[in-house]
Amino acid sequence: MLEWESMTERTIFHKILDKEIPADIVYEDDEVLAFKDIHPKATTHLLFIPKHFIVSIADVTPETAHIPGMLILKAQKFAKEKGIDGYKLTFHVGKGGGQEVMYLHLHFLSEQKM
Ligand code: AMP
Repeated sequence: MLEWESMTERTIFHKILDKEIPADIVYEDDEVLAFKDIHPKATTHLLFIPKHFIVSIADVTPETAHIPGMLILKAQKFAKEKGIDGYKLTFHVGKGGGQEVMYLHLHFLSEQKM
């Protein structure tokens, strides 16, 4: 059983990943989906989510420690391809850290346009 199948409710990001609800997807491959944040806090505000579900950085284990790094590399490659050379990458961790969606995601914020 996948981790999320034991949860009572799937998050909005599960539904975006499964294409049950629309999102402005800017990149997808076997490991990651990236889409525009619906309430952008910068000129370019994207969210990178792994296809392997993890709740947050607080739940990363030695077995899944490669996943946050993978998200960072995908964001780095995406930025290079779009000619963006200045950006911020952020993980919100837990409710106290401002995390509202309990599905690991990397915020990509830049004042440069894609
Ligand atoms: P966090 O506070 O780190 O959990 O960030 C969640 C982010 O998801 C927020 O910046 C929201 O604006 C964004 N968000 C919520 N629902 C959607 C959606 N349906 N499509 C795109 N972004 C969303």
